[in-house]
Amino acid sequence: MTAPKETFLADYQVPAYLIESVDLRFALAAAQTRVVSKMQIQGNPAGSGGDLALDGEHIELVSVKLDGRVLAGNEYQRSDTGLLITHVPERFTLEIETLIQPDKNTALEGLYHSGSLLCTQCEAQGFRRITYYPDRPDVMAVFTVTLEADKTLFPILLANGNLMVRGEASDGKHWAKWHDPHPKPSYLFALVAGDLHCQQDSFTTQNGREVALEIYVDHENSHKCDHALRSLKQAMTWDEETYRREYDLDVFMIVAVNDFNMGAMENKGLNIFNASCVLASPETATDDDYYTIQSIVGHEYFHNWSGNRVTCRDWFQLSLKEGFTVLRDQQFSADMNSEVVQRIGDVNQLRIMQFAEDAGPMAHPVRPASFIEISNFYTVTIYEKGAEVVGMLKTLVGNAGFRKGTDLYFDRHDGQAVTTDDFVAAIEAANDVDLTQFKRWYSQAGTPVVTVKGDYDATRERYTLTLSQSCPATPDQTEKAPFHIPVTVGLLDKSGQVMPLQLEGEVAEEPTDSRTLELRDAAAEFTFINVSSEPVPSLLQGFSAPVKLVAQQDNDTLAFLMAHDSDNFNRWDAGQTLSINILLGLVADYQQQRALAVPELLLTQIAAVFVLAESDPALVSRMLILPSENYLAAQQKVADVDGIHAARTHLRKTIAQRFKAEFEALYQSLNTQKKYDFNADDMAQRDLKNVCLAYLMATGDPMQTQRCLKQMKQANNMTDRMAGLRLIADQAGPERETALRSFYEQWQHDRQVVDKWLTVQAQSNLPDTLIRIKGLLKHPAVSMTNPNNVRALIGQFCRNNPVNFHAKDGSGYAFLAEQICQLDDLNPQVAARQMGALGAWRQYDAERQALMKQALQTIADKKSLSKDVYEIVTKYLADK
Ligand SMILES: [Zn+2]
Repeated sequence: MTAPKETFLADYQVPAYLIESVDLRFALAAAQTRVVSKMQIQGNPAGSGGDLALDGEHIELVSVKLDGRVLAGNEYQRSDTGLLITHVPERFTLEIETLIQPDKNTALEGLYHSGSLLCTQCEAQGFRRITYYPDRPDVMAVFTVTLEADKTLFPILLANGNLMVRGEASDGKHWAKWHDPHPKPSYLFALVAGDLHCQQDSFTTQNGREVALEIYVDHENSHKCDHALRSLKQAMTWDEETYRREYDLDVFMIVAVNDFNMGAMENKGLNIFNASCVLASPETATDDDYYTIQSIVGHEYFHNWSGNRVTCRDWFQLSLKEGFTVLRDQQFSADMNSEVVQRIGDVNQLRIMQFAEDAGPMAHPVRPASFIEISNFYTVTIYEKGAEVVGMLKTLVGNAGFRKGTDLYFDRHDGQAVTTDDFVAAIEAANDVDLTQFKRWYSQAGTPVVTVKGDYDATRERYTLTLSQSCPATPDQTEKAPFHIPVTVGLLDKSGQVMPLQLEGEVAEEPTDSRTLELRDAAAEFTFINVSSEPVPSLLQGFSAPVKLVAQQDNDTLAFLMAHDSDNFNRWDAGQTLSINILLGLVADYQQQRALAVPELLLTQIAAVFVLAESDPALVSRMLILPSENYLAAQQKVADVDGIHAARTHLRKTIAQRFKAEFEALYQSLNTQKKYDFNADDMAQRDLKNVCLAYLMATGDPMQTQRCLKQMKQANNMTDRMAGLRLIADQAGPERETALRSFYEQWQHDRQVVDKWLTVQAQSNLPDTLIRIKGLLKHPAVSMTNPNNVRALIGQFCRNNPVNFHAKDGSGYAFLAEQICQLDDLNPQVAARQMGALGAWRQYDAERQALMKQALQTIADKKSLSKDVYEIVTKYLADK
């Protein structure tokens, strides 16, 4: 095939034409929808003029009228990707009529059919599948949308903005007209038509605006909206209090859709959500689901300002809205629940997923320089690392300074499409600081490595930290200039007490317990004075920068920090590093066929952790969970999948047997039949209880299997039920089959629960997992056109089941290649997202490398590959 075109940031040009307003009329039907678009267009004073280029794909053109006159075929040029209209005046009206087929749209971009619904997904470039339009975020127009459809099939008709008027039409049809007064780019356009239940509530903003809140779901799910509604109200209040951002329309709507490529979408006033990110009841949703829903409802709501009112100039600026909004949702979740649990979760995800991306062939900066398919750049780098970058800005200028900066950013750029440079400029201007060097975080890819050495001078009572930095080469960038890195540190004395900090040469301020050091050069020294005894440093507190820290702390020091660090995040982190050291030692034992011996040091520290169970159960369960197999693999030069699995299983079993009595007692005390409520305390208790149950199962005691079954049966919530099922599904025996069968029988009517049932089977470490998955792909409840099914079965197996996916015979790789080839014809975005598991092929032994490359080659050889998959497979194979 011919290589698809690459787009470069350096080629950006302002739009030649601007659209003042667009009037869209839809005659909706699943088989064929007629779209009439009437645009008021004018030349952009800053643009270059010339022909008018409109984007458009997979649409049938009926007619084009310019100022009311039908254009002849020779007055425009059509191609597979758009329409070019020549000789246009300075200011004119353009009316375009097109036909589209929602029924046939399995890519789920543009207007498509999901169940009995018609709905849209336009970010990033879906609008061009609806009509011909300048489909780029820097063209912002006022939209008026009229929807007409069959009244019985589609009693609900929704679009962005406020409802203006509705009425009856002939032939059993009805219509509704919506108007959004806020100019917006086409990617924020949305419509929904269907037969849905509407759950209503209201919210009064700080300035007294009455806002109707409406959540639309399938009728059978009408009892599952309360949590999303409560989360929405929490988010609206939080954003007023924390960022002074107020909602700006009369109605805010959320619609739950079963077939959706992403989690959710922030379309102005009409958020469209993957049903799994809206629906919750104690019987069907776990604590993780509740937590995720609260966070995603917040995230999409926060976009109303960070994304919609101020949007991105071009798609290279995607992190402008996503990095900032992820930071906002992380802050929100931390405020609603537990700060340290939130931070641990965010850092875990960053280290496991984003550091791996940075180390692989798809490594790209937070602001990429080029792309073939923008859908491939909705990545952990753009989102999660982007959030870390904004978080570092906040650390550098302080909370109050950051708020001054964001206020200025919103004031300056309201109604505009801007860049990450504009964001940083507002933080700079509000705080009178120079962040020129800091901006390298946006343009340089890779995870920096910060090396720390400490030196104590007892006679002068001085302690010097020497920090140095480097960053490995990434594709397209071999040399990196030094980053501006905030490193927050504290010092502890030998008894574990925090020591007051004062830097040399500093005008005497009040000594503080922790300090943020700013590393700007390749290396720098920071000397603390009046340090009365040799300290133990607590480094990178709260994970103050997205870097790998090399501190050369021995296991005894890590054990000390695990017990005493004043920063709870670092306490957890010290425990993780200690566990990694020990696990990698066990892997070496495994490789040399020595007996696996767990050092007492770790077991002693774990004994101490139990003491905290009552005061901080959330932290205890985080501390008891060992680093994941994927993260351990990333710590090795050549990942030993089997060795890691054996070592981790052995360590879990050793801990389980040593502390069986403690786990038993804790389980008993936490296993109350309390009514389900979603709050941080109850969630922490359920979490710890189920961590205990997992360890009890790891003892190998058959009684524990019965306990799992009993918990599944007696649970009054899905969290406890799933915890039991997950453990049973991971253990061979007749109980497994019975439990899986009866669980399915009980919950087969509920899509979200069926996806969980698929997930536990896909994640099972038992050797028959792949055979089982192949069987499940033919199950009547499973469809390859449903992204949630694909993610639950294929995604979970390939990403979160390393021991089976990386089976030595290559069966996991071959399976993934086959699935991607099939999926690519149905849904390129979802197909491309599953590719990640093959990206790190360099990390494995020679035999696995060969098999992984063979799988990649199978994909590359497929005829008519999508741009999405083409871009990724080409980059992976080019990784030499
Ligand atoms: Zn977002």
